[in-house]
This record gives sequence, structure tokens and C-alpha cells, in this order.
Amino acid sequence: MSSLKTQHHVHWFTGQFGEHSRESMYRKSIKTRVRFESCLSLVLVSLIFGMFAITDYHLLGLSREYYLLVTMRIVVVSLCLFLAFIIGRWGCYSRKAWLHALPLWILATGIILIVPLRPESLFTQVTAVVVATMAFYLLIPNLLIVAMFASLYLSMGFLVSAVLFAEIAPVVTLRIALLLIMTNVVGFCALLRLEILQRKQFALLQEERDQNRLLLKEIAHRKSLEAQLRMVAERDALTGLDSRSHFMKRAKALLQRSRLEKVPFSLFMIDVDHFKSINDTWGHTHGDWVLTKIAEVCAQSLRPTDVIGRFGGEEFVVALPDTSPKDAQIVAERLKKEVATLPLKEGMSGLCLSVTIGIALAHPEEGDLESLITRADQTLYVGKRNGRNRVEMSRDSC
Ligand code: GH3
Ligand code: MG
Ligand code: MG
Repeated sequence: MSSLKTQHHVHWFTGQFGEHSRESMYRKSIKTRVRFESCLSLVLVSLIFGMFAITDYHLLGLSREYYLLVTMRIVVVSLCLFLAFIIGRWGCYSRKAWLHALPLWILATGIILIVPLRPESLFTQVTAVVVATMAFYLLIPNLLIVAMFASLYLSMGFLVSAVLFAEIAPVVTLRIALLLIMTNVVGFCALLRLEILQRKQFALLQEERDQNRLLLKEIAHRKSLEAQLRMVAERDALTGLDSRSHFMKRAKALLQRSRLEKVPFSLFMIDVDHFKSINDTWGHTHGDWVLTKIAEVCAQSLRPTDVIGRFGGEEFVVALPDTSPKDAQIVAERLKKEVATLPLKEGMSGLCLSVTIGIALAHPEEGDLESLITRADQTLYVGKRNGRNRVEMSRDSC
């Protein structure tokens, strides 16, 4: 909540963000728009200013004052159009505020200079000054201080030259002064409100963007956590094979499909022989290494469609969809041979690594994976009893 307040803090008089970095960020965001609007307003205002040469002609005829006025108008319009071009191309409003202020001061000077040349039309000019002041505040956007100084210069300059050249009575001077003060106050307040509102809107938008960014970060973090959790749940940390529960899930689906498609489905139960003595002789680290190597052999020598899981300590389980008992026997024999010829670690030369494999074949209507595993396990123990380092086929699979 406190961060929200500091972000929204806009100065009551300048209408700018208290925080410098936020103010420059805001200015950067509206840079192009301000440049375009300033340029357009300047072109319009200076053209209107130039068009008043027609009324000058009606009032003054082709007199010396008329020529002076026309010359002054041409100078002002040319300068303003030139500056509008410069602003349109290079007018960075946050760094070159003076460039935006300059045409306003030139226009103001032009309006002030009309008084000594056309003193008899002073009251029309008061209206022009009021309109110009409002235009300074409202048409030149986001430059409150610049607009304020230019407008004050216009009002005071006009008043002074009205007193000097139009010789107005003190009470009239007071009336014009009050009118100009009111115009400035109204213009200033209107632009101030606009500045504050625009900045508040910007701050809210920024906040929303920040929140969205945080939310996206949080979502990415959660997704990665989810993936990590899935990995932990689905993979065996030591061998990288499927965990027991994940194997069961995948093998169940395969078994069901095989039953529907009426194709054979075989299952291996693999147990490392005398693994306890490997641990006892070379230590658990070497035992772990042997397990990872056997897992690698299984993963490499089986088909990608087969599912391999670590069932327990030194036991592995393999589901072989679309595999007949004969093919299963061939695969198991090959696997057993590959394990036996596995290159061992230095210092383990005395080890005769072997596995016993029990094979069970799913009955045509068998949908229960657990009972198939039990049969493969029982067959494995038959193999163990029969001397280990062998492939044993479940009797009802032959
Ligand atoms: P058998 O030929 O009858 O299968 O004998 P075995 O020694 O392989 O079987 P037993 O069940 O007696 O011993 C299995 C050993 O495997 C006991 C246990 O400490 C070890 N073991 C289980 N999990 C791990 C493991 O993750 N890493 C290591 N290094 N050893 C393990
Ligand atoms: Mg065992
Ligand atoms: Mg064993």
C-alpha cells in the first residue's frame, strides 16, 4: 500500500511526479505524442495569427502601421513554423523544454506588439489575449510550467503595453488585469488537473504492468516447481528410470491397450545376483555405480516402446508390449549377456556381474498388472533357486 502511495505522488503545483525517475519514465512514454501535438498546435496557432493580417488591413488600410504589422506577423509566423518543424523532428520535450517554450514567447511578443500598432482595437485584442492564454495552457500539452511562464509574460506584457500605448484609464486597467488573472488561473487549474490525471493513469498502468510481470514470473516459477516435482515423482533419482509408481501407471495403460488390440504382452522382473556382496566388497558407491550401469544397459538394449522401471533396491521391471514369449526370451537372454560383459570400474576386476530374469506373459483376458508382476517375481525366484544368472520363463507362458 505504501509503495502505491509513493508511486502516485504527484506535486500539487507542478503536476509532476515527485520521483524523478518516474517523471522521466512518464515523459519518455509520451514523447512522440507531445512532439506531434506541439508541432500541430503551433502550425495551427501561427497560421491563425498570420490570418489576422486581413483584419489589420480593414482597420489600418495600406498605412505604415499596416506594413509594420504584416512584417511582424510574417516574422512571427515564419519563426513559429520553423520551430514547429524543429520540434517535429528533434523536439525532445523532457530535455529541450526551452525549445517548446520559445515559440510561445515569440507568439506572445507578437501579440503584445500589436498594441502599439493598433491601439484603437484594444478590446478585440483583449479577447485575443484570453484565447491565446487558454491555447497556451490547453493546446501545448504536458508543459504546465512552460505554458504558465509564457502566459504570464503575455498577460503582463499586454497590460504594460496597453497602459503605455492605448492610454487606458486605471479602472479599465484593473478590469483587464482581473480578466487576465482569471484566465491564467482557469487555464493553469485545467492543465494542472489534466497533468495530475494523466500521471495517475500512467502510474496505475505501470503498476498493472509490474503486477503482470510478477505474475508471469510466479507462473514460470510454479511451472518449474511443478516440473521438478513431477520429475521427482516419476523418475528414480539414482538410475533415471521410471519410479515404481510411474512405471505402474504407464505399464497399466500398455497392458490395457495390448488386451484391446489382442496382442501379447510380456513382463520382465530383473534382479542383480549377489548384489549385497558387491556392496560389502566394494562399498555402496560402487554398488550404486553398478545399478546405474545396468539401468543404462536396459535403456539402451530395449525398444523405445518398452517401459523400464526401478522396482526396488537392485530390482528392475520391464513391460514389453506386443512381445511374444519367444521374443521375450531372446530379449532377456541378450540383456543378461550384455550385463555380464559390462565394462567394470577399476579395482572391480574380480566381480562376475550377473542378473536373473523372470518372464511372465499376460493371459489374453488379464487386465491386472499386479498379478502379472507377482507371477514374474515368482518366476524370478525360481531362477534364483535354479542357480541365478539365468532367464526363467513362467510355466504358464510357455
Ligand atoms: P540375490 O542374488 O539373492 O538377489 O542376493 P542379493 O544380495 O542381490 O539380494 P539381497 O536382497 O540379499 O540384497 C540386496 C541388497 O541391495 C541389500 C541392499 O543393501 C542393497 N541395496 C538396495 N538398494 C540399494 C541401492 O540403492 N544402492 C546400493 N548400493 N545398494 C542397495
Ligand atoms: Mg532383490
Ligand atoms: Mg539380488
